[in-house]
Amino acid sequence: MPDAALLADAGPDAASLIARDRGLLWHPYAPLDGPAPYAVTAAEGVRLQLEAADGARFEAVDAMSSWWSAIHGYRHPALDAAVREQAGRFSHVMFGGLTHEPAVRLAEQLVELAPEPLRHVFFADSGSVSVEVALKLAIQYQAAAGRRGRHAFLALRGGYHGDTFGAMSVCDPVDGMHSAFPSLPAQHFLSRPPAAHLAEGPPDQPALVSDAAEVAAWVAELEAAVDLHGRELAGIIVEPVLQGAGGMHAYAPECLQALRRVADEHGLLLVFDEIATGFGRTGRLFAGQWAGVVPDVMCVGKALTGGYLTLAALLCSADVAAVITASASEAGRALLHGPTFMANPLACAVASASLDLLSSAGWQDQVRRVRQGLRASLAPAASLGAVRDVRVLGAVGVVELNDPVDIPALTRAALEHGVWVRPFRHLVYAMPPYICSAADVAAVGAGITAAIRQVHC
Ligand code: PMP
Repeated sequence: MPDAALLADAGPDAASLIARDRGLLWHPYAPLDGPAPYAVTAAEGVRLQLEAADGARFEAVDAMSSWWSAIHGYRHPALDAAVREQAGRFSHVMFGGLTHEPAVRLAEQLVELAPEPLRHVFFADSGSVSVEVALKLAIQYQAAAGRRGRHAFLALRGGYHGDTFGAMSVCDPVDGMHSAFPSLPAQHFLSRPPAAHLAEGPPDQPALVSDAAEVAAWVAELEAAVDLHGRELAGIIVEPVLQGAGGMHAYAPECLQALRRVADEHGLLLVFDEIATGFGRTGRLFAGQWAGVVPDVMCVGKALTGGYLTLAALLCSADVAAVITASASEAGRALLHGPTFMANPLACAVASASLDLLSSAGWQDQVRRVRQGLRASLAPAASLGAVRDVRVLGAVGVVELNDPVDIPALTRAALEHGVWVRPFRHLVYAMPPYICSAADVAAVGAGITAAIRQVHC
């Protein structure tokens, strides 16, 4: 039943809101006349209150954390206060020639959290833009190091890095919309790295295990590709350990170790896109830590602001920054990017508060609780005829079906069971806010399982 306090906030009639939206607004990857969206009438804690075009009302646990971002849930008092306090000082100032406390403090926190030697920070306004900056940085680095002509990248099939041009070019070439944009820069792609799954060890130290022969074959493919294309390459970009939007695929950490070795041997920059995986989602603060590998460049976003405002950051090693700063070309000494809303003070202030919460609330225990809850509550889905695989890594649970998901029907069925999900292709997945109680997580797994049974069995 909808919560009375939430309903009091409901605002204008949702059905007319949806009618005004339709034909006026584009939604992600959807045509103007696509399926009607649900109207959000309130969001509090881990719950969204939604209303459908037909007037049906739902109160649902947000199993998507608003696409990996709202890790502390909605209307968190500390995050609300951080935004309000900064708005009481100033909301935005340009970052060209100016600096401010929220940006400096956040950069200091990020450098403190990130593994050595990631020591320099560039703020961007979204994950995709931070990937663009990472690609530009790698090309500038090679030029500054006197290795001109190195401007291609090695990326992974099944990878996803964002929707701007450079980012799209390193997304999976088949699923990544390449055929719609023939002018994308051509990149080189390796096979998806071999799958890994969590072996339940001591509660504090689950291990990711995979097939050693498959890993060896993949490493041989990597070495051959770099032998062939190494002199054209500026760098390698991957989502460490968990490919998200490209298929929710967890892979062998040993592959990251091989990438680090090969990048060093060939003078390539290793870029980890931790935009989805960063800040604890996979069970490590950064997913690269599953392999004990530190990249030269790391992009973070999404959960950085606790899902409050759009902000991303690129961190790079002191060595890489030193090469760029020592460039023979005066223009090349700067990182050639400078968005209008760079280091937006509201976003930086709330990101600082979110990082404070991450440690003070004990993200490791929170993520462990979500992982254990998802494992238990999604386990019954494994015996459904429509289900091919159920897998959990950190606070991410995935149910893979044999056939493509009937997305509108499954979304609605899950809402009727009190859960908001946004399936894609064959996948129904959950990555709920870290603050979910054990009962909330149990409701997520049970709701997803019931919805799959209802729609696909
Ligand atoms: N990289 C990864 C791994 C992502 O999951 C995403 C967003 N889904 C992006 C980059 C792009 O981030 P944004 O949507 O903030 O541009």
